[in-house]
Amino acid sequence: MHTQLLIVGSGPAGYTAAIYAGRAGLQPTILEGIQPGGQLTITTEVENFPGFPQGVDANELMLNMRQQAERFGAVIRSESVIRTDFSQRPYRLWTDTDTELTADSVIIATGASAKYLGLADEQKYMGQGVSACATCDGFFYRKKVVAVVGGGDTACEEALYLAGLAAKVYMIVRKPFLRASQIMQQRVMDHPSIEILFETNTLGLYGENGVEGAHLIFKKGEQGERTYDLPIDGFFLAIGHRPNSEVFRPWVSVDDAGYIQTEGDTPRTGIAGIYAAGDVADPHYRQAVVAAGSGAKAAIEAEKYLKTL
Ligand code: NDP
Repeated sequence: MHTQLLIVGSGPAGYTAAIYAGRAGLQPTILEGIQPGGQLTITTEVENFPGFPQGVDANELMLNMRQQAERFGAVIRSESVIRTDFSQRPYRLWTDTDTELTADSVIIATGASAKYLGLADEQKYMGQGVSACATCDGFFYRKKVVAVVGGGDTACEEALYLAGLAAKVYMIVRKPFLRASQIMQQRVMDHPSIEILFETNTLGLYGENGVEGAHLIFKKGEQGERTYDLPIDGFFLAIGHRPNSEVFRPWVSVDDAGYIQTEGDTPRTGIAGIYAAGDVADPHYRQAVVAAGSGAKAAIEAEKYLKTL
């Protein structure tokens, strides 16, 4: 099957690109991937997307974007890309249904996935006290007690953000030191509401109605090992994100963490007609509204490019 414009991914970047491209008469095809609607669908309410003064249910927001894309002619397929060949146009992509697609232009909007510890309790309490996004969910923990897992810059940033809302923030750090930059380390250490629990790992979570605490272990496997329970209302993961760029890496350039590198503040990847938008190309902001904006940019670029063919 051939399409002028193929959009890979169905988060805010992918759908916004589809809305713009659809309105430009390009009839884009979207491959929605294994998590239709993207990362937002694992949160509950979105209160910082402009246009919704009372907030909006995250799934409803994504469904609205989907319908808006379909209204302008986008064709949505429930497939994921497993292999690509961008060596020449038309660009070739293979999906998990053994389908080969060709496209004159491709917008990569596959997002990033937060890393989790891999505990069964993370799944159990997802959206009920477990979150991987303080900016998204911190507001629900005003005056409450929360824990942030991780010792990097993201964890420090999330802890500082949460400290502005919550009564108390614990940082659960597996090493005896933080990995974050000096300035971020200083800020968390100086903050009166943040307490760092070094050499500590999480064994599990507990609670009747959502998270009420974490089972922790201090100095695991060492002398002085101790397990104890820490009462908390929220458990925030900040141990890094993994951009979903693997299948495109043979062709586009990525940074050390795997984020697709684009030219300046454009979504251009360096290959004519191939663009990257949203979190897969954004190690910094990771916000739905920013992703939506970059999806719009990518569609505008694709439209201009397709006119030259
Ligand atoms: P990092 O990889 O820098 O840090 C991840 C943290 O999570 C580390 O403390 C790591 O511990 C910990 N961790 C990883 N896996 C586990 C696990 N299974 N159990 C417990 N702890 C775990 O990721 P970040 O997202 O913090 O940062 C990514 C990049 O983005 C960095 O280069 C960072 O500097 C940059 N960044 C910069 C910001 C800024 O400048 N304002 C803001 C945010 C990010 P350990 O140290 O033991 O490996």
